[in-house]
Amino acid sequence: MNSNLLADNPRPTVAAPALRTKAELRAAVAEAKRAGQTVGFVPTMGYLHEGHLSLIRAARAECDLVVMSLFVNPTQFSPGEDLDRYPRDEERDLRLAGEAGADLVFAPGVEEVYPDGPKGIATYVEVAGPLTSVLDGDPSRRGPEHFCGVTTVVAKLFNIVAPDVAYFGQKDAQQAVVIRRMVSDLDFPVRIEVLPTVREPDGLAMSSRNAYLGEEDRQRATALSRALQAAERGAREGGLGAGFAAARRELAEAGIEPEYLEARDAETLEPVEAIEARPVLVLVAAPVGAARLIDNVLIHPNKAENQPSPSEGEK
Ligand code: AMP
Repeated sequence: MNSNLLADNPRPTVAAPALRTKAELRAAVAEAKRAGQTVGFVPTMGYLHEGHLSLIRAARAECDLVVMSLFVNPTQFSPGEDLDRYPRDEERDLRLAGEAGADLVFAPGVEEVYPDGPKGIATYVEVAGPLTSVLDGDPSRRGPEHFCGVTTVVAKLFNIVAPDVAYFGQKDAQQAVVIRRMVSDLDFPVRIEVLPTVREPDGLAMSSRNAYLGEEDRQRATALSRALQAAERGAREGGLGAGFAAARRELAEAGIEPEYLEARDAETLEPVEAIEARPVLVLVAAPVGAARLIDNVLIHPNKAENQPSPSEGEK
């Protein structure tokens, strides 16, 4: 890509061009870097929604060249998960990515990323320990292999794209913690930005997997965010125990049985019993109809005290 072209058209309103090979992508990034441009990177599995677009817009605001990747990574799906039915619409994704400010979309085929097939790779990047063996990483759930698939492909993408800044969503809170740890442990020269979860007007966290929900399940799915709100309110007013009880009630009323509903330290993912000095994540995962949904809320301790605002105090 011509860097003057990028400078003249910082906000393309047309579809972003799709590059299929590592060589093409590296050439485009190298040209931008030669011109002194900074590179922002947004890795995605596509079927874009406002959550993805918020990351692209943040990258657009901060970086000269914005690269999004569009790759449904087979190695982070276990057998029996939804790899084959994962929703895809590349044409729409390229248009939305371009409109949000992506300059380039790296959209490789599986054979470009894994020339010997997904199982033919011999080198893995694995964040070991509790960060990847609890919550979604629990062997009874997606398992640590899920995160090994994520960190390995993200490490590959970082090596291909060589971004200055990479953008991730708080929606996948555990993934963000794991990636921060990988970057810190292996000294990847990239800054990680984690941006807030974007929600539908009724609170449901946006997710490509929401496409699996029929009308009734879509309605029931709103219980997840209500449960997290109840957990946060409870934590502020009567402690985490009260919060969990209220959250479980919300889920039960919607007929939702959570896989997990837990409070953990936002950085170490150690279990916590109370909100004290450090930020706490309350995280939930649950099957709803044909989808497995996750959501979380980040509770900052300074906001955990019960300090009603003046208008609430007057009620
Ligand atoms: P995915 O395509 O699901 O792999 O997600 C790509 C990136 O978008 C990840 O960093 C996600 O955490 C982020 N993301 C997904 N959903 C949301 C959301 N509702 N709000 C903010 N970021 C999101």
